[in-house]
Amino acid sequence: MSQINIRNQVNQHTQHSHALKIPRILILGGGYGGLKTALTLQRSLPENKAQITMISKHDYHYQTTLLHKVAIGTLSARKARIYYRKILDSSKVAFIKDKVLEIHPDKKRSFAGGVGLSMIIL
Ligand SMILES: Cc1cc2nc3c(=O)[nH]c(=O)nc-3n(C[C@H](O)[C@H](O)[C@H](O)COP(=O)(O)OP(=O)(O)OC[C@H]3O[C@@H](n4cnc5c(N)ncnc54)[C@H](O)[C@@H]3O)c2cc1C
Repeated sequence: MSQINIRNQVNQHTQHSHALKIPRILILGGGYGGLKTALTLQRSLPENKAQITMISKHDYHYQTTLLHKVAIGTLSARKARIYYRKILDSSKVAFIKDKVLEIHPDKKRSFAGGVGLSMIIL
């Protein structure tokens, strides 16, 4: 994804959350920990209670617990993936595909692809 697209997405969500005065939560990484957090928040938080953004370097979660099957050829690599677009409700969790380059939890900021994101970081 281009930096301009990421910036546009983030800007849209940031403006929305500023207008509603709701907390902004940034989840770094869509692995077991990050994805579970996103899905739990998606399920338990009513709409417009928080702006949730998950950023991860791929647009899918790779089920490492299935990798032994991929290794021996009984499962295709594609089937071990869960695409975030299929399980995340985009009206509740915004997903950004990018690599996180810097994290500054003390300043509540992280950087991905040259774009700074100011949020509560998980
Ligand atoms: C082959 C294998 C089999 C396993 N089997 C089991 C099992 O049977 N049972 C069990 O309990 N555990 C198992 N584990 C361990 C389990 O996978 C890990 O404990 C678990 O994945 C850790 O979760 P996590 O969310 O911390 O990290 P991960 O699940 O690794 O998630 C990290 C996420 O962050 C993303 N990411 C990383 N760096 C960046 C970056 N700079 N910018 C953006 N995104 C980034 C990654 O793409 C990934 O989506 C296995 C591990 C392996 C490798």
